[in-house]
Amino acid sequence: MNYISTRGAGAGERHTFSDILLGGLAKDGGLYLPADYPRVSADELARWRTLSYADLAFEILSKFSDDIPAEDLRALTRRTYTAQTYCHVRDDDASGALAAQITPLKTLGVENGATLSLLELSNGPTLAFKDMAMQLLGNLFEYTLAKHGETLNILGATSGDTGSAAEYAMRGKQGVRVFMLSPHLKMSAFQTAQMYSLQDPNIFNVAVEGVFDDCQDIVKAVSNDHAFKAQYKIGTVNSINWARVVAQVVYYFKGYFAATQSNDERVSFAVPSGNFGNVCAGHIARMMGLPIEKLVVATNENDVLDEFFRTGIYRVRKAAETYHTSSPSMDISKASNFERFVFDLLGRDPARVLQLFRDVEEKGGFDLAASGDFARVQQFGFVSGRSSHADRVDAIRDVFERYDTMIDTHTADGLKVAREHLQPGIPMVVLETAQPIKFGETIREALLREPERPAAFAGLEALPQRFEVLPADVQRVKDFVAAHTGD
Ligand SMILES: *Cc1c(COP(=O)(O)O)cnc(C)c1O
Repeated sequence: MNYISTRGAGAGERHTFSDILLGGLAKDGGLYLPADYPRVSADELARWRTLSYADLAFEILSKFSDDIPAEDLRALTRRTYTAQTYCHVRDDDASGALAAQITPLKTLGVENGATLSLLELSNGPTLAFKDMAMQLLGNLFEYTLAKHGETLNILGATSGDTGSAAEYAMRGKQGVRVFMLSPHLKMSAFQTAQMYSLQDPNIFNVAVEGVFDDCQDIVKAVSNDHAFKAQYKIGTVNSINWARVVAQVVYYFKGYFAATQSNDERVSFAVPSGNFGNVCAGHIARMMGLPIEKLVVATNENDVLDEFFRTGIYRVRKAAETYHTSSPSMDISKASNFERFVFDLLGRDPARVLQLFRDVEEKGGFDLAASGDFARVQQFGFVSGRSSHADRVDAIRDVFERYDTMIDTHTADGLKVAREHLQPGIPMVVLETAQPIKFGETIREALLREPERPAAFAGLEALPQRFEVLPADVQRVKDFVAAHTGD
């Protein structure tokens, strides 16, 4: 398997899965994609239907990472996708059968002739779907670094979900340290406690006296200091990481098998979307031959993607036009994985992708409405919609009353938009991206009660916390990293 850049540089060079695992953007600023998508045969699809999650993950990942010996990859997936790690299932699970499925499918009911269900992706350590990929990344990093005798210092900024998923994935891993910047006193008590209560010596929480954007600016400034970056082996785990995307392909297959009786059926997926990482994995599953009818892109008030899929216009938002909403993990001004889909939409023409994303930088966007390419969006199965705070409050209340199920704000956006795209006879699977406890304020507003809290999280906020408060100052953060990377 060879990987290429969406912007075409280095065509003719070879990049394996391991080559791009620890890196970010390609050197021309593009994103990596496989030179060809592997196709899944009917025989394989039949055989995969009954596999465990870990073994399905092995089958799918091995098509993208033929440079990792099969026995090593199988050990990695079996170590990652265990009932112990994905144990926070919400229904009664005395036998452990639900946790063993890793991503159980919960059927809500039939609406407009379509069976509506939730694919639970948030049963991992941090109660958000980012664990699905990040846990694998932790094991892949440890494996690859050990093989080459290297170390890596991950530097990131977080306002919640990504940072905690990264820390729980990397804690205790050999050769890896995590320096995670978060805005001091700006996260919810639950999210703060989730991160700061980690006592592992390779995890460093830095509480920056500022807002999330200050944290992000510091990470950018450090990453642009190439000498510092090389000396201290600084890396990232952001959403453009290819291994994260490909790990997410697995649960589209798992969800498809759970929602159908046979491989002749088709299924639609509704995906709460921000940076287009999750739904990009759905697109790849469809390109591999999984019988997906529609990929429903659901946004919140930050509707960059909905606007594109309705009109063909991609227009990134300025800071003042980027809203803080009650589904905060979808509050984006541009969708960092979107270029991967645009590459396929344009028939994999890197020169045009380069031009379009230059237009994004110089003019703030591009318009494909008039070109024949936009009409092809439908061939790729994409439809979209947006949701507002009032919509998500309604959806949370409605699902609770009708189906006795509590959903979080992001999943509520997915469900709201899913309902606008139901087709009789085609199951609609909404991806559940977080558990309600993470976004308690809106649950209290919608339901006038406290969110459900998995038993293992009782008393979380009272645990001792370990973090360092620093001013929003690049040099101070660099000094902190330098002081804690000696061996
Ligand atoms: C990150 C996140 C999303 C958005 O996923 P993308 O891959 O960025 O589209 C949605 N919901 C939750 C809870 C998240 O943490």
